[in-house]
Amino acid sequence: MDSKIANSFSNYDLEILKRISYEIGIKKELIQGAGGNTSYKIGNTLWIKASGTKLEKAKKDSIFIPLNLQEVISSIELGIENTENYKPLINTKLRASIETGFHAILPYKYVLHTHPIDVISQSIVNDAKNSIGKALKGIDWTWISYKKPGYKLARSIYLNNKRFSNAVYILENHGLIICANSGDEALRLQEEVVNRLKIKPRENAKPDIDSLIKICKQFKSIGIDAFLPPDIVTHSLTIDKSSRDLLNKNPLYPDHVVFCGLRPLIVNKNDIHKFTKAEYLKYNYCIIEGIGVILFRNVSSSAEIMLQTQSLIHLRIPSNKSIKTLTNFECSELINWEAESYRIQLNKQE
Ligand SMILES: [Zn+2]
Repeated sequence: MDSKIANSFSNYDLEILKRISYEIGIKKELIQGAGGNTSYKIGNTLWIKASGTKLEKAKKDSIFIPLNLQEVISSIELGIENTENYKPLINTKLRASIETGFHAILPYKYVLHTHPIDVISQSIVNDAKNSIGKALKGIDWTWISYKKPGYKLARSIYLNNKRFSNAVYILENHGLIICANSGDEALRLQEEVVNRLKIKPRENAKPDIDSLIKICKQFKSIGIDAFLPPDIVTHSLTIDKSSRDLLNKNPLYPDHVVFCGLRPLIVNKNDIHKFTKAEYLKYNYCIIEGIGVILFRNVSSSAEIMLQTQSLIHLRIPSNKSIKTLTNFECSELINWEAESYRIQLNKQE
């Protein structure tokens, strides 16, 4: 590693980036699994979270890599899509975050990108721009219509910012970006925005665990190792009527598509034997209509977390609101995307 770069980062600023990343990473309401990313700029170096790594490990592991800042900025300004291939300034197998582009073009020292469940829930209703505007009165913020994560999102933010760069961005069907020139200011601003956008979730009706355990045994009788999600809130996906209705629509945000696919397999409890083992194992979980969620042994910890996140978001979406789901095209852009396959693979290795 270039000693100048190493020295520039082995200081107080590194500790700040690690600390704020860790503080964000341990909050499930802000970050789920390997989602979200943070960065810090010093001179012409951009230090960015590596793709597939977890912010909660920021203190323990080396999860940040340095890039040539101007190289990234130029590619977004010139409209050249190569965001997945920026060459790190150190020897590493890690790749830069998919979202490196917008981190580079936002002219602030610290940039934090999170997936707060309240912000995602607010951003998907059809009058979101208006209702979020009321909630964030007094804060300068920018609405960014849904774009595929990565280059397209960065380019959209760049085009929006030609005249002035705000410090707060609400990303439709995606999440939040916060910028500041100090780490503590970034955390403070993020907390304020998330607090103002808080939604009281609907009550989560208790699942019938005995029935679910019996269903797991039925799966075992056809050779499928089935078990229950660790958090009972996940079952609300099918117990709560409005949440259940949302399962018949396309997913609401990218990470769900990436880790859980387009649609779940929904089965009536009386029809469990109607499907073969091979048919079930095309999926890594199954929804038992009106009863709960069953996980199969091949489920990844990321998919498990995404299902829990989906249940928390569905409980925050009012049944009387019209919403924007990801379109078929937007979902197809995410499925089989090489950059995301890499992130899924890294998370399977855990
Ligand atoms: Zn994101």
